[in-house]
Amino acid sequence: MSQINIKQLDAQSPEFDQQLKELLHTDLVVDHQVTTIVDDIIHRIKSEGDQALIALTGKLDRWTPDSVEALEITKQSQQEALARISTAEREALEKAAERVKSYHQHQLQDSWQYTEADGTVLGQKVTPLDRVGVYVPGGKASYPSSVLMNVMPAKVAGVEEVIMVVPTPDGDINDLVLAAAAISGVDRVFAIGGAQAVAALAYGTDLVPKVDKIVGPGNVFVASAKRAVFGQVAIDMIAGPSEILVICDGQTDPDWIAMDLFSQAEHDEMAQAILVSPDQAFLDAVKASIEKLLPTLSREKIVKISMESRGALIKCSDLDQAMDIANVIAAEHLELSVENPEQWLPKIRHAGAIFMGRYAAEALGDYCAGPNHVLPTSGTARFSSPLGVYDFQKRSSIIHCSADGASELGKVASVLARGEDLEAHARSAEYRIKK
Ligand code: NAD
Repeated sequence: MSQINIKQLDAQSPEFDQQLKELLHTDLVVDHQVTTIVDDIIHRIKSEGDQALIALTGKLDRWTPDSVEALEITKQSQQEALARISTAEREALEKAAERVKSYHQHQLQDSWQYTEADGTVLGQKVTPLDRVGVYVPGGKASYPSSVLMNVMPAKVAGVEEVIMVVPTPDGDINDLVLAAAAISGVDRVFAIGGAQAVAALAYGTDLVPKVDKIVGPGNVFVASAKRAVFGQVAIDMIAGPSEILVICDGQTDPDWIAMDLFSQAEHDEMAQAILVSPDQAFLDAVKASIEKLLPTLSREKIVKISMESRGALIKCSDLDQAMDIANVIAAEHLELSVENPEQWLPKIRHAGAIFMGRYAAEALGDYCAGPNHVLPTSGTARFSSPLGVYDFQKRSSIIHCSADGASELGKVASVLARGEDLEAHARSAEYRIKK
């Protein structure tokens, strides 16, 4: 047993709105020390290219390759890593990759066209990005699931070339990460990390090709570098700490709910795990489960700090009120651990991923259910969506005018162009008006 000081809030109390606001507050202060370091690294990559990549990899990842070429991890090395992992690991990676691929195939958008009455054909042409960079974090831990979740949607979208970067601290390369790269069809892999890898992808070096978009999570140096190169290239998002919100009717095993909360809290001290239920006896039972199970975790310290600083058990009046709270929180992960979750789904407007029913543990979505695990955090689910195929496709408008169409539209355009005092626009349109 471990005593835990987790916040217990009552949604019916007059102070609740303010308490919830304080609970959700995240300090988005930009660390100027980090931005100075990152700006310097980006400048070095732009001016010194591959030589700076070697020097910075030596300094920050404690590994100095013999040559520039040694920074690339060949397809053969990826295949060797695939051969080294256990059969169970290989099967799990392949199964997860298959599920993620099949889910994302449903997101493919098609080009479309239609014809106006005047014969003008209008439409939208969907084109995959040419080349994408995937940042796979690797400073302190390895994330093969990040490889699958970032690479598969790009491949399904039809991106021609996917370039992966992953730091190899002390020259150690994680076999599962390389195996995931081989399985998901990454085109080239470079053993570089941090701001230097982001800068190399954004500006290109002799070795590393310049990409059009950089996706993937990372630490503050990676996030700050992505912010700095945005505009030069596209980026996916700047992810905040992980979050889970569980809404439970009180009928799920309290141990399951405690472990679901831990599954996000174990990410880091700033992660947020919140439970909302109308059943006070159940909230007490989950607190008892938390205290019972916490000492059994290898990341007990991180979980405890996260649960005590940013976690909460919230008593609501009924499930209707729980759904209202969910919409205010707009959580990255929302578990509806209730009977008939479909009944409540229409009420949910804001959430990154919605896990329906008692069996849909968030952890299944992290690895292999199929949907992407790169999700909007810090309330940004109010206006953004999970990473998907649409992030790797772009759209061009198509306008194909008939002579009659151009004549009709020319009259409209000419009036509006003269109203804006744009002479050439007006005359260009008027040339096409039939006499
Ligand atoms: P990382 O790859 O993000 O960062 C390692 C790199 O940071 C190193 O290669 C080095 O270049 C750079 N670096 C470290 N110290 C530096 C310094 N003092 N100055 C300049 N550069 C420095 O790996 P990480 O550190 O293990 O962090 C991974 C992060 O990604 C964690 O915060 C983790 O929670 C997050 N993550 C998020 C998701 C998600 O889906 N949201 C998934 C996996 C990991």
